[in-house]
Amino acid sequence: MPAPEFQHTVAKTASLSGTALHTGDKVTLKLQPAPVDHGIKFKRKDLQDEPTIDAKIENLKTVERATTIGEGSVRVHTVEHILSALSAMGVDNAVVEMDANEPPIGDGSAQPYVDLIKKAGVTAQDEPRSFFDVREPMHVETKTGALLVLLPDNKFRISCTQAGPNNRFTQFLSMEVTPAYFEREIAPARTFVYYEDVKPLMDKNLIKGGSLENAIVVRGDAVLSKEPLRFSDEFVRHKILDIIGDLALVGRRIRGHIVAVKPGHATNADLARSIVREQTRRSALAAPRTIPSGDGGLDPDQVMEILPHRFPFLMVDRIISFETDTKCVGVKTVTINEPFFQGHFPGHPVMPGVMQIEAMAQVASILLFKLAKTTSRIGYFMSADGVKFRKPVLPGDTIFVHAELTKSRGERLAKAKCHCVVNDAIVSEAELMFTFLDK
Ligand SMILES: [Zn+2]
Repeated sequence: MPAPEFQHTVAKTASLSGTALHTGDKVTLKLQPAPVDHGIKFKRKDLQDEPTIDAKIENLKTVERATTIGEGSVRVHTVEHILSALSAMGVDNAVVEMDANEPPIGDGSAQPYVDLIKKAGVTAQDEPRSFFDVREPMHVETKTGALLVLLPDNKFRISCTQAGPNNRFTQFLSMEVTPAYFEREIAPARTFVYYEDVKPLMDKNLIKGGSLENAIVVRGDAVLSKEPLRFSDEFVRHKILDIIGDLALVGRRIRGHIVAVKPGHATNADLARSIVREQTRRSALAAPRTIPSGDGGLDPDQVMEILPHRFPFLMVDRIISFETDTKCVGVKTVTINEPFFQGHFPGHPVMPGVMQIEAMAQVASILLFKLAKTTSRIGYFMSADGVKFRKPVLPGDTIFVHAELTKSRGERLAKAKCHCVVNDAIVSEAELMFTFLDK
């Protein structure tokens, strides 16, 4: 086992001003310390109520040219360079406060953010970091030839091949991501764009802050930029910078080796999503599975005080634990006496998948109730995404129903990720959406 590593935040607030790439407006960014397990959050100081957006893959909105995250109608654009610097320089928890919808573009590299982080200082906190350890190879691939493979490794390493149109500017670099290497070899690498890609945007005035001062423009075989190339292989270095930034949206550190061929924001985001999916699966399997008799959960009477459902439609016997206000595990013991077994199927009893979805919805409703703190409004089940039934559930099985609220948008909408586990295996999963109505 590697020695435990501790979470880090910035020691003090530091700020940076500059120009926003897309609007061309002036923007001031303040990097502020944050407590353990906070993660990186962006704060829009310029909007009413100063909303914050978690730098999490669930909040990813678009990946065209840059990485945009958002919640509700609030957006933050071009987050990948500052996230890359924060991740590689070892900052786990911070608030990135801005008075505009994107960070200052600087010179198109992560250098200004590294300078900002060093100005603020990086300081250890007293909780261990969480890691994603790659156990088996994972990969994502697109029709356009982009490929990312993630292999087991006890370090965080990236080996990247970049290639431009007709394989011009093909470059390769392999490295281990450490703060010192990043600062010296990766952070200074600037954004590069192909002239044919940006010409239409310039014509439409969509990149008002763009200039040869914050990007290298490649036109045919010519490289146009205000200052000469900082490295002969600057492009592949910037690709690595973007991979680190996009994968920071996983929300935990990766121990593994990424082999990337012609990567882009879309493939990076796909890999981040796969990692989070795998992590969620592992967490569900690792959760405690003994039924406690004491406090911490809800007994059957308490469950029925919250849920209006009754036999034969009550699909939760008890709640065994609340991990936080947004996460809990419920239990349902499936007996041969369940009415649905009579007809599903005669002589061959299998629990209908929809009843597992119902169990997930009921456990998630208990979380919603805890959040709303009233039984006068009830969460109605609106839709289910990503529904998978992996194994049959049979009479005598005990189902552990895991539910986690991933989003609760104001007063009206909520989303929950749910799994049913029987004998240490996931039997079904779904992402459920709810709306609240008065009873
Ligand atoms: Zn970039």
